[in-house]
Amino acid sequence: MNHPGNDSSTTFLDPKTASKYLSEYETPDGLSAEEIMNLRANGGLTYNDFLILPGHIDFPPSEVCLESRITRNIVLKTPFMSSPMDTVTETDMAINMALLGGVGVIHHNCSSDEQAEMVRKVKKFENGFIPDPLCLTPNHTVADVHKIKAKFGYSGIPITANGRLYSMLLGIVTARDIQFHEDHTTLLKDVMTTDLVVAHEGVTLEEANQILRSSKRGKLPIVNSRGELVSLLSRSDLLKNLNFPLASKSLHSNQLLCAAAVGTHPDDRVRLQKLVDAGLDIVVLDSSQGDSIYQIEMIKHIKKTYGDTLEIIAGNIVTREQAASLIEAGADALRVGMGSGSICITQEGRPQGTAVYKISEFAQKFGIPVIADGGIQNVGHITKALALGASAVMMGGLLAGTAESPGDYFYHDGQRLKKYRGMGSIDAMERNCNFRDSSESAAARRYFSERDAVKVAQGVAGAVVDKGSIRKFVPYLISGLQHALQDIGVKSLIQLKNEVGSGKIRFELRTAAAQVEGGVHGLYS
Ligand code: GDP
Ligand code: 5GP
Repeated sequence: MNHPGNDSSTTFLDPKTASKYLSEYETPDGLSAEEIMNLRANGGLTYNDFLILPGHIDFPPSEVCLESRITRNIVLKTPFMSSPMDTVTETDMAINMALLGGVGVIHHNCSSDEQAEMVRKVKKFENGFIPDPLCLTPNHTVADVHKIKAKFGYSGIPITANGRLYSMLLGIVTARDIQFHEDHTTLLKDVMTTDLVVAHEGVTLEEANQILRSSKRGKLPIVNSRGELVSLLSRSDLLKNLNFPLASKSLHSNQLLCAAAVGTHPDDRVRLQKLVDAGLDIVVLDSSQGDSIYQIEMIKHIKKTYGDTLEIIAGNIVTREQAASLIEAGADALRVGMGSGSICITQEGRPQGTAVYKISEFAQKFGIPVIADGGIQNVGHITKALALGASAVMMGGLLAGTAESPGDYFYHDGQRLKKYRGMGSIDAMERNCNFRDSSESAAARRYFSERDAVKVAQGVAGAVVDKGSIRKFVPYLISGLQHALQDIGVKSLIQLKNEVGSGKIRFELRTAAAQVEGGVHGLYS
């Protein structure tokens, strides 16, 4: 066949044979994962050093399944985890991560009782019920309610005997009770409503909503058989009580899945027992260098004490040799990443892409999933970590600054910010060093040995901008990841792994210039 403008003596191949010709006579474009990762001259690679070549699309992104096995026995609907850091994961983050199909790992830079209480709240959470409503005592004043209103935005405050949850419910103060009350020193016992409509523990959301509707009240306190307050329902949430079809639930109950971090010191065994009593599903052994005799002994202790009722994520590690020690000891998953975190100021580990690939390739022979921890800045990095073999990504900085992360927002230079700090920062290590169960903070233990007389920071403290709620942000990540997999031409994470393994999915190195080209460029503003 001749093409206009071409030398009439040139003959062309039949266009209908293009695919056949390509597969029979040409070498495929790009490199396989194995080839790109074994280019020794490159040293280690990190996410920005390479890209994944696009494949063929014959399905919509909504059909892409993101289900993933994150430990030997736990499968999540979305491969997302939040870091055990005190500016990232406490109750609220853990609840919302689980509702959205991932899992939050509650940090341990607090007393064991405080951490167990957070786990308990996640396990007891029921969609629609406020699990830890702010309460006051009858001896607080109208001024205290105004302060709460100014700080948190609500004024429906249950009044209990000691001002806390699980204490006798005595009344409720609402906006209407104090609206026209000019004397702010009045005690709440003189303004609170005591003629209460309540519901009892065990009531379903549907029943409770029905009671709220028919009672025409703004709040419905939920009490136990002793009359103590256990949670609260708010009329303004009636329409917001959406379904969460992706929610991560425990294997044997309808409760949300909960993970928490502990260290590997002898008293961490006592801490862990409290967390297990509170209903913990997954324990993350939180060491900056996980291949140690302490961690191996801790894994053995946990397996002996709790059997298969508790899943263990061991780490952190970056080599196959380290992985072998932990797999042999009984780890149910491995957490990979040393020095890759956004707040990290040590480069003790290895470029994250290589670490994830090498360990995943080895660990999958034993059926042990890998969690890629640290350095995730965008959907592209998530896609690459999963393509290199990780079963989930763990994110700190990307989830910090959301409404569900701990801490209050503040303003600086007109920006709304929240604190985000490394657990090895001086700031985190100095947090409340006189916990009941230890003279040191967990952060100090993770990043120093007891004998370190001089503490050298391994992380920094800073601030990140307000990212809104993870109820919007995680669905954005989900949708972004579905689009990315569609571009690659795979319908599931399982297919992604298989086709990376078979060499069908191709990779290419990215020069510094290619990275610039791939980012936004050439705009005046
Ligand atoms: P109020 O009538 O002034 O209490 O405020 P609204 O009922 O309009 O709003 C309360 C909102 O804050 C609802 O979306 C609640 O779920 C939420 N909220 C979160 N924590 C609490 C809490 O501790 N107490 C109350 N009253 N509401 C809370
Ligand atoms: P990010 O998602 O912000 O890039 O990284 C979060 C991860 O960094 C955490 O899950 C944890 O493994 C690690 N990390 C947290 N704090 C510190 C620190 O102070 N120093 C180092 N080296 N790593 C940290």
